[in-house]
Amino acid sequence: MKTRLPPWFKQKLLDPQVMLTMEGLLDRLSLHTICQSALCPNIGECFSRKTATFLILGDVCTRHCRFCAVKKGQPLPVDEKEPQHLLKAVETLNLRYVVITSVTRDDLADGGASQFVRAINILREKRKGILVEVLIPDFLGSVEALRAVVQACPQIINHNVETVPRLYPEVRPEADYRRSLRTFPTVKDLNPEIITKSGLMLGLGETKEEVVRVMKDLREADCELLTLGQYLQPSSKHHPIARYVSPGEFSEFKDIGKDLGFAEVASAPLVRSSFKAAELYTKAKS
Ligand code: SF4
Repeated sequence: MKTRLPPWFKQKLLDPQVMLTMEGLLDRLSLHTICQSALCPNIGECFSRKTATFLILGDVCTRHCRFCAVKKGQPLPVDEKEPQHLLKAVETLNLRYVVITSVTRDDLADGGASQFVRAINILREKRKGILVEVLIPDFLGSVEALRAVVQACPQIINHNVETVPRLYPEVRPEADYRRSLRTFPTVKDLNPEIITKSGLMLGLGETKEEVVRVMKDLREADCELLTLGQYLQPSSKHHPIARYVSPGEFSEFKDIGKDLGFAEVASAPLVRSSFKAAELYTKAKS
């Protein structure tokens, strides 16, 4: 369904110089961002604020989610220098709050958890007071892999459930809704100080009742922060957009989320799981 974007998607034009500067830095450091790989609509705004969500473990994923623009296939071996390069980028951008995510590496025994640990540890060691949020895959449900990341003590552990369970077979076939939900109580059991976060994209064919059911499941699983945004089709090869959810519906979901007890809910068409992440963290802590 190739349709015109609704008026609420009007965005500031990208500043080409800002983009060149950021992309130049990332290229020099052989670093990837989910901002670029997933064609995030907020890239211009985030790069102009000198923030980004760093993608570790390469830019090729072992899974085939139908909504995702990230490259799929046989990933390269883990780059041992990646944590060092990440530190360099954080120093250059003088970041106080860093979001680290990854492709899913089902080809690795620990799903790549040890690379997350190396990245968090080097930032902790070299950047005193830095705040770290990690947006992790499900590590195929491995508690040992999750324990390793928890022990590195990021401020926030984010894991997106992405959509409602009925749509998993067609939207994210290799994922498992119940397995993803188990991430949050496991984190809280291991370290209750770590804030838990999740996110969904809307407009894939879910009903309002299904979204509210997932929000209740997340609260029952002790998830504290929630992001809700509009799915945008990266290309005609990707899952079609079922509909554009109105800003009014997003704010209704925000209210429902707050009533369900989420510490904070970011819910609007252009919201993405790490968009304005530092602000959401600060609000949750206040
Ligand atoms: S697991 Fe993540 S990176 Fe891989 S295809 Fe799915 S959404 Fe994209």
